[in-house]
Amino acid sequence: MRSKSYKNLLRGIAAAPGISIGKAHIYHRIDEEVNEYEIENVSQAIEELEDAFSRSKKELVKIFKMAVDKIGEKRAAIFEAQLMILDDPILRRNIWERVEHEKKNPEFVVNDEISKYQKLMTVSDVEYMQERSYDIEDIKNRIIRNLRKKKLISRIEEDVIVVSQTITPADTLLFNRVNSKGYVTDFGGLTSHAAIVARSLGIPAVVGAHDATSKITDGDVLIVDGFHGEVIIKPTKEQLDFYKKKIEKLNLYDKELRKLKDLPAVTNDGKKIIVTANIDLCDELEIAVNNGTEGVGLVRTEQIFDLFTAFPDEEEQYEVYKKFAERIYPLPIIIRAFDIGGDKVLPIDLKEPNPFLGWRGIRLLLDNPELFKLQIKAILRANKHGNIKFMIPMVAAIKEIKSTKELILTAIEELEAEGKEFNANLKLGVMIEVPSAAVMANKFAKYVDFMSIGTNDLIQYLLAVDRGNEIVSDLYQEFHPSVVRSLDLIIKGGKSQGVMTTICGEMAADPIAIPLLVGLGLDSISVNAASILQTKEIIRSLNYEEVKKLAEECSEMETECEIKEKLKEYYDKNIKDKFQTIN
Ligand code: PEP
Ligand code: MG
Repeated sequence: MRSKSYKNLLRGIAAAPGISIGKAHIYHRIDEEVNEYEIENVSQAIEELEDAFSRSKKELVKIFKMAVDKIGEKRAAIFEAQLMILDDPILRRNIWERVEHEKKNPEFVVNDEISKYQKLMTVSDVEYMQERSYDIEDIKNRIIRNLRKKKLISRIEEDVIVVSQTITPADTLLFNRVNSKGYVTDFGGLTSHAAIVARSLGIPAVVGAHDATSKITDGDVLIVDGFHGEVIIKPTKEQLDFYKKKIEKLNLYDKELRKLKDLPAVTNDGKKIIVTANIDLCDELEIAVNNGTEGVGLVRTEQIFDLFTAFPDEEEQYEVYKKFAERIYPLPIIIRAFDIGGDKVLPIDLKEPNPFLGWRGIRLLLDNPELFKLQIKAILRANKHGNIKFMIPMVAAIKEIKSTKELILTAIEELEAEGKEFNANLKLGVMIEVPSAAVMANKFAKYVDFMSIGTNDLIQYLLAVDRGNEIVSDLYQEFHPSVVRSLDLIIKGGKSQGVMTTICGEMAADPIAIPLLVGLGLDSISVNAASILQTKEIIRSLNYEEVKKLAEECSEMETECEIKEKLKEYYDKNIKDKFQTIN
């Protein structure tokens, strides 16, 4: 029984595999309207106010420092003005007193009082003051966001399926704390970071379901089928029974897969592929180790730390990286520099018109050398056993690699001067995820120790299709001939210089893509921790000589349709039987 004709069915994009059944929790993003209500516990509200103001201040101080570097003192003055408002004793007194005496919720009072400030400025004759009134909107939202952050968690019941218009990676992490059982969103694409985080957490997710929030009501029972991108609203008994059986079968399949934990990923004619894990969350490393990972192919450091709150200092970073490196030792671990920007947290309220084409990854880091150096120093120190490799994201030019190397040298000098213990033998690699880097891969390879293909971004930049936009998700094609040819070019480029090339984009975990990737000559692939066993199983069912031919044929094809059909045919013939539970 497939669900195609159900009336209570909602379709979206299958973003994270798995099936779950639970009650819906409709989540409204934090920046929505502020309501007024009476509070009972005044002292708790005051505590929350203190906390929100001090968090906001901490965030702003960091932002101000970064902004001075990048956008100059004049424009950075916006943040200085915001800091002054935060510290304004009259404003604070008014807010505190009103919460105490009127017993109103702090969000409402903050909104009301700061809005008064804004109004005064708007009616001012001085043009400068009028302009500043818009900036105040930011500080207001920041305080309100900080006020709500904590409450949000306590309001949500455990084990719900979160339904929302959009979801950010930070939201996904937040919900993880209340053991959310699934995600359904109106908007979003397959490789948006929220979807990636959901996959990392092993939580079924369906994104881009268009009208989920209008069709689903809080408390509705839902079935989320993250394999097929389907959501069933208020299922019938027959539907519930069907999916419960499916869940049972999946559990059995998982048990079977576990047997592969300590077995290598070798094709049936002897070609060994190293399967490593992508890590987005601290807890994931244990899952990866339990699934028999052969190292870590990508640590998304920007996800590990809550950058929105504050930038971690050298010591904090050192502790985390050291723990990771020691846990996975003697296996290698690739730690990626903060890939901030795009759809990931940018700890600065810069409204860029095109964030994915803007201040992201290595661009932002090289523009903020002090911040970048902190991370480099922490990594050099954590590399005590020499199993850490360092990787830079969003690289588009060789100059960026050279500048990074210079900064590593400066970091080494500083560590020496500070008398701190470190290991300078740090291998440097680049993500190949911008078309310019793909075209130049053989040249880039001369300057680095390894390359890792980031297909999530490479596809979006190559095909000019936003990875997080469900409206164009049909055009986001991992089997577009230009993608296959680029992969071929990059892998050959790496081999021409004897440089190891791996892949860490989500494509690496796609059962249909794996034969192609192995056939193109990759010796190593990195997938989310939850997909390690399945990836091993697929590789073990392949014949290298056969997939080599398959990849050659695909590289010559002219349309996505042809390539997809060819790979699907191969998959159905050689692999599908093993995955009856999920097909
Ligand atoms: C990629 O772009 O493929 C990648 C692995 O990096 P991220 O998804 O973090 O952008
Ligand atoms: Mg990327």
